[in-house]
Amino acid sequence: MRKKIVAGNWKMNTTRPDGIELAKAVVARAAEVPAGVGLIIAPPFTHLCCCGKALEGSKVELSAQNCADHAKGAYTGEVSVDMLKAVGCQWTILGHSERRQYYGETDEKLVEKVKLALAAELGVILCVGENLDERKAGKHLQIVEDQTKAVLANFSAEDMKKIVIAYEPVWAIGTGKTATAQQAEEIHAYIRKVLADKFGAAVAEDVTILYGGSCKPSNAKELFAQKDIDGGLIGGAALKADDFIQIALSF
Ligand code: PEP
Repeated sequence: MRKKIVAGNWKMNTTRPDGIELAKAVVARAAEVPAGVGLIIAPPFTHLCCCGKALEGSKVELSAQNCADHAKGAYTGEVSVDMLKAVGCQWTILGHSERRQYYGETDEKLVEKVKLALAAELGVILCVGENLDERKAGKHLQIVEDQTKAVLANFSAEDMKKIVIAYEPVWAIGTGKTATAQQAEEIHAYIRKVLADKFGAAVAEDVTILYGGSCKPSNAKELFAQKDIDGGLIGGAALKADDFIQIALSF
């Protein structure tokens, strides 16, 4: 049975004190969330460590939002997977569309990052998704297939035990426009087929595939009711503990 997950991507929001307060507020309600639903928060690098301390003894796991594409050395401004592990991260988000769009994240770099993350025993939340022009041109399935294959061609069925896919249509991120449950399910089922073609149906069935893009308490239930949607990667709504927990209670 694949795991259900609700993960909060805080992006470049919260200062250290706000972050600790938010992490504590999530922890305070985490026990309401059924055991089968995993909770993850991804604060900014600067307060991963103290947010991690706030999570101790709770079911909430800690994720980074990115990691370096090199193990260590002269890469000013970068943060390595070993550094993330050492402050208590169990996960890192990789390939978010904002990283692809604003910071030149290429598939080649992503492959290196995923390799390093897995070697450090970090779970990976790998983001894929089409932009508005690609959807209007009817290319959404192809784009998502290409992005998924470009990275996963380098990984094994065993590696897939540590990789979660997040489908995030770029046109739905932070815009208030959510993909309909049918639009999202179409892509999720397609990603699972792409995974089945490469790794076999049994492996594909076990991969958690999250939806991200203006997911909130009012639409999470319908999205999560879809056969291939196993939870959400939540941006804006993860900045309010009550909304985040409400989403996690929507299965
Ligand atoms: C995200 O960026 O991962 C995201 C899903 O953002 P939002 O929920 O704000 O659309």
